[in-house]
Amino acid sequence: MTLPLIFDLDLPQLTQQLKDWGQPAYRAKQVWQGLYQNLWAKPQDFSNLPKDLRDNLAENFAFTHLEEAQRLYSKDGQTTKVLFRLPDSQYIETVLMRYEDRRTLCISSQAGCAMGCVFCATGQMGFRRNLSSGEILEQVLVFARQLAEDGERPTNVVLMGMGEPFHNYDATLEAIDRLGDPDGFNMGARRFTISTVGLLPAIRRFTAEKRQVGLAISLHAATDELRSSMLPINDRYPIKDLIRACQEYTEATGRRVTFEWALILDQNDSPEEADRLVKLLHGLNCHVNIIPLNPTQGYAGQRSTRESVAAFKQILDNAGISCTVRVRRGIDIQAGCGQLAERADGGLLQVN
Ligand code: SAH
Ligand code: SF4
Repeated sequence: MTLPLIFDLDLPQLTQQLKDWGQPAYRAKQVWQGLYQNLWAKPQDFSNLPKDLRDNLAENFAFTHLEEAQRLYSKDGQTTKVLFRLPDSQYIETVLMRYEDRRTLCISSQAGCAMGCVFCATGQMGFRRNLSSGEILEQVLVFARQLAEDGERPTNVVLMGMGEPFHNYDATLEAIDRLGDPDGFNMGARRFTISTVGLLPAIRRFTAEKRQVGLAISLHAATDELRSSMLPINDRYPIKDLIRACQEYTEATGRRVTFEWALILDQNDSPEEADRLVKLLHGLNCHVNIIPLNPTQGYAGQRSTRESVAAFKQILDNAGISCTVRVRRGIDIQAGCGQLAERADGGLLQVN
């Protein structure tokens, strides 16, 4: 039987649990700080606690749901990707990208994904299950422990691994909230970015909650016909409504919104498509991330040429739209979303 994960508890729940065990209130704070400040990974590490409490913790809670199944390093050593096996044998992926002073983690919110975007390895797997808040945040803690060995910390976290975070809204935001506790891990909401395929009700809820978490929208096309052929969810939430919701978000929060655009050869990389994008984003406080497609097994599309990437960016630049071409970090270790888990699932994975 799988024990409940200790990271699924917030501080009041942990406090209640310890109270039920007859422990004084200050013990809960000690456990919390052990988990989120000292980054202790197992009950035995809590040397400041009495043995009966350590035993109680060990008997009643799992201190990890993430078993490392495979670890890959990019050739330049700057990107690390880990494939984790969950207790029910689902797989998820987490990626660490080192770039100058930044230590960015790309974490998963679901095993698989229900959204079926045609070019995405995770979409090609289909939906397996939601991660719990504890399983989402444990990915951050695992890497935080490793970075701490070099005196470092994660600086940014992006919800761009497997899954659609707004399809698992509560757990995702609970994970972010829990990591934000100043008496715990103390990583503020502004250091997180949620990337969504465009689930409108969730975007509106996020806007109403005036979250300080960054928002990125996977746009990828400027017409409904093209976008629906790539991202089936567009049939339910078409572009016009999506852009309006983004406008409301920027007005309510004062923050800019990021759009992601995977450039695919002869699909969405023409100058005409760039012109349409310019029109669409007119007057919006935004930034565009251009990501040359990471080819996947289940999709015939190819990456755009270097020339068309440059021409596409030039059109946005000329129109005064802030945009960057994302450097393809970790491409040699299939750091694209879902690519490792897809292979593990099909039995193709060779565990090192
Ligand atoms: N489900 C969320 C977050 C995870 S995907 C979303 O769709 O936004 C993170 C980003 O990677 C998204 O912008 C997604 O469109 C993009 N992506 C997925 N597969 C890709 C591929 N093969 N090449 C390039 N980008 C890809
Ligand atoms: Fe899901 Fe995002 Fe992949 Fe689409 S791109 S299938 S929403 S993970």
